[in-house]
Amino acid sequence: MSSSNTELYQQVILEHNRKPRNFGKLEGCTNQSEGYNPLCGDHIWIYLNVEDDVVQDIKFEGDGCAICKASTSMMTMALKGKTKDEARKIFDQFHKMVLGQLHPDKDPHELGRLAMFQNIWQYPSRVKCAALSWHTFVGALNNESSVSTE
Ligand code: ZN
Repeated sequence: MSSSNTELYQQVILEHNRKPRNFGKLEGCTNQSEGYNPLCGDHIWIYLNVEDDVVQDIKFEGDGCAICKASTSMMTMALKGKTKDEARKIFDQFHKMVLGQLHPDKDPHELGRLAMFQNIWQYPSRVKCAALSWHTFVGALNNESSVSTE
């Protein structure tokens, strides 16, 4: 990562921690799941309103490290308004990217700004922090009450 990329990455993470997007409880939601990452202590809840196969609304609550909160905040922005199939596709791309199997610079993707997590596979202990909310999102879609990264 060049130093300017590292700086941008840190700025975006700090900004989302200061002002997490779509943070709070979603009353009367259709789907929800709880996610826990025992390695780091990240603990979040994902709430969805799914209607006509579209993620009409998505919010989250909980507490976690900066990477977890930024990834969750950015995920809610990326998935709101997407169909379930589109959302699962973006999940697959994000998941491959954090494992180092998709490289946004050369592989096609629809990750947008989420591509800034592309080097996290070099820090295995942080991969679960970045991926927790995504696994919890899929858990909510599948009506699983809780998801653990262990
Ligand atoms: Zn964490």
